[in-house]
Amino acid sequence: MSDRYSALALARHALQPDLPWPRAWRSPEPKTSYDVVIVGGGGHGLATAYYLAENHGIRNVAVIERNYIGSGNVGRNTTIIRSNYMIGGNTAFFEHSLKLWEGLSHELNFNCMVSHRGQIVLAVNPVQLDTFARRGNIMRLNGIDAELLDRGEVMKLLPYLDYSKEARWPICGGILQRRAGTARHDAVAWAYTRAADRHGIDIIENCEVTGFTMAEGRVTGVDTTRGRINAGKVAIAVAGHTSHVARLAGLRLPVESHVLQAFVTEPVKPLVHHVVSWGAELFYLSQSDKGGLVFGGHIDGFNTYTQRGQFGKIREVAECAVSLMPFISRLRLLRHWGGIQDMTPDGSPFICRTPVRNLYLNGGWCYQGFKATPASGWTFAHTIAHDEEHELNRCYALDRFEKGAELDEFGLGNWTYKQ
Ligand SMILES: Cc1cc2nc3c(=O)[nH]c(=O)nc-3n(C[C@H](O)[C@H](O)[C@H](O)COP(=O)(O)OP(=O)(O)OC[C@H]3O[C@@H](n4cnc5c(N)ncnc54)[C@H](O)[C@@H]3O)c2cc1C
Repeated sequence: MSDRYSALALARHALQPDLPWPRAWRSPEPKTSYDVVIVGGGGHGLATAYYLAENHGIRNVAVIERNYIGSGNVGRNTTIIRSNYMIGGNTAFFEHSLKLWEGLSHELNFNCMVSHRGQIVLAVNPVQLDTFARRGNIMRLNGIDAELLDRGEVMKLLPYLDYSKEARWPICGGILQRRAGTARHDAVAWAYTRAADRHGIDIIENCEVTGFTMAEGRVTGVDTTRGRINAGKVAIAVAGHTSHVARLAGLRLPVESHVLQAFVTEPVKPLVHHVVSWGAELFYLSQSDKGGLVFGGHIDGFNTYTQRGQFGKIREVAECAVSLMPFISRLRLLRHWGGIQDMTPDGSPFICRTPVRNLYLNGGWCYQGFKATPASGWTFAHTIAHDEEHELNRCYALDRFEKGAELDEFGLGNWTYKQ
């Protein structure tokens, strides 16, 4: 408890300005060898490290991060968490994740600011509302909360939307998941880092993995900008860099990298009390605790590793915002930013073993990696510890395309469920 930044701690530092702030986690030199090396210190790598120690007692672990903790997509996303999936496999995995979110601040002893404010997806025609009913029924059969809303109910909950005759897309109802919401993304990264560090795991920042060492078809370690590190097992969790990092180990993955942009307006008084997504285009919006309206849309439609998006996409997303909530046109856009997303052909991720022995893969998160962070780390740690997938991530294997076992929620369900 002593390393919490409470009001009392702040006062103590004001009275004794020479007292150094304690580090939130250690900054160790890399050892020459570990039982497990995790490449990538984003949400997924850090969560994996924590659950390796917490659930499986594996503590001789290093997380190798080429930049600083929180510099990747874990600190760039729009913070939406939910489990309103329809396809078997996805439903159980994302519901497990939401359940882990529910107890996360307590488990990690750090306030991740998990807010179950509810997500409402708006339908813009009756056919879409029918597909929402189908999805809601499947969710409820799987024990996941879902409520179908008619137009009047949506008007009561979201009075600030455009319901006029001139509205570009008429809102005819929606579907609500009350347990969905948001979590503070940086806090999640820091919480897992501190918890992993407390277990004795080495978090090594500013260290890039540049290659893999192999012997007799198995991985034996990594080459880094701070020297060679031997490892019993190596796990890749590098989000938007999955294809080219896996390539260093000789793997060619069905992954394309795109930039996804996000936007925040100047702060306004509390107004939007849910996460609101829209069925006319991929568009999602929530209000941050500081008051800014945080929103986003689709990926930019070309492959890239730059984190800077194009103006065309900014215009498209702004059009969505203004069509839905005309008052937004009077707000100033404060910032926009981008992150690299690794996209798979079916929109579902990989959490699995690879053809290289002792090398494990976590990636292909598309639009949905933040909400998956706890379950991803939990199941990936299981896969590494037991050298076999848990039943919750068996569906996320690399060979699912050869076997015709894709999980294409994007094609099957309504694509506006992304985010
Ligand atoms: C704008 C935007 C909005 C989003 N909104 C949502 C949302 O609302 N809800 C949701 O569920 N998902 C959302 N996502 C997706 C989500 O953020 C990502 O899927 C998820 O964060 C990826 O996992 P990660 O946290 O481990 O990634 P990252 O934080 O990117 O971690 C990967 C780490 O690997 C490191 N790395 C890369 N190469 C190397 C190397 N060679 N050596 C060492 N380290 C390396 C990187 O520096 C990085 O820190 C959004 C994404 C973006 C870009």
